[in-house]
Amino acid sequence: MDLSIVIPLFNEEESLPELEAWIRRVMDEHKFSYEVIMIDDGSRDGSWKVVESLIEKNPNVKGIKFRRNYGKSAALYVGFETAEGEVVITMDADLQDSPDEIPELYRMIKEDGYDLVSGWKKKRHDPLSKRIPSKFYNAITRKISGIQLNDFNCGLKSYRKAVVKSIEVYGEMHRYTPILAKWSGFYNIGEKVVEHHARKFGYSKFGMERFVKGFLDLFSVTFIGKFGKRPLHFFGTLGTLFFIGGFFILAYLSYEKLIDQEYGIADRPLFYFGILTLIMGTQLFVTGFLAELLVRNSSTRNRYVIEKRTHPK
Ligand code: UDP
Ligand code: MG
Repeated sequence: MDLSIVIPLFNEEESLPELEAWIRRVMDEHKFSYEVIMIDDGSRDGSWKVVESLIEKNPNVKGIKFRRNYGKSAALYVGFETAEGEVVITMDADLQDSPDEIPELYRMIKEDGYDLVSGWKKKRHDPLSKRIPSKFYNAITRKISGIQLNDFNCGLKSYRKAVVKSIEVYGEMHRYTPILAKWSGFYNIGEKVVEHHARKFGYSKFGMERFVKGFLDLFSVTFIGKFGKRPLHFFGTLGTLFFIGGFFILAYLSYEKLIDQEYGIADRPLFYFGILTLIMGTQLFVTGFLAELLVRNSSTRNRYVIEKRTHPK
């Protein structure tokens, strides 16, 4: 199968028929073998009924329905798990992304050798209140991740199959799949300017809280990528540095006290600072140790992305 098109949707009943017809037209034109995986993320409108009717019309459409709303990342996770195509495309259900972009996104993976190609809504049809924070966001994400993309949060992206089978999207991390891919060793990340349309039906499902959640997730994505399998290296190093600092401060003060018995050690602000750093150091170290114990028991502790094997397992 050439393509899996993964579409998370939450209350998008009006858009779906047009979206399916448009995708079908593009797929037939280019003679792709494909599947469209529609994940109904607990919609409360008639979306699921529409998905069922589309399946009757087009056997390439597959539907998955969540009992409740888990969020876009959860929908993508299940879609990625299900996908069978050699190239996996994600797109939003609201007709803001254009299916006409799919053939080129496919080609860039197959021929140009990209692992992941992210859409860039260069000319964006969204309110200013969304565009300005988004610019700021993308700048921070570029800095932290070292990945030079203009538009991390574009819903339209294409992936080599191995990428979606190696990364685990959860929380609100659908924004950061390029970072997850990079941490899994897929460094060839490209970008393509894509057309973007204003929302035709319904309303945006993400409010301003997206920026708070987005920031926290950027932090955890980076931290987990770097120290997720060895938290003690982070907390332990920091803790040890604090501890040593505190120890020397107190050793110095004790030495002064030894020389001069009259010396009021508790009058020195440095004394409290020394105690504080010593305690903080111990706490950080213990935190790291507890985190390390958690990792030992987690199912991802030995999940590595294997690119090749000379002998089957
Ligand atoms: N979506 C989803 N679950 C949610 C929120 C959104 O599956 O909890 C889907 C939504 O139906 C759409 C895509 O994610 O297909 C992007 O959402 P939206 O268009 O509301 O985001 P925006 O374009 O405003 O960033
Ligand atoms: Mg949208």
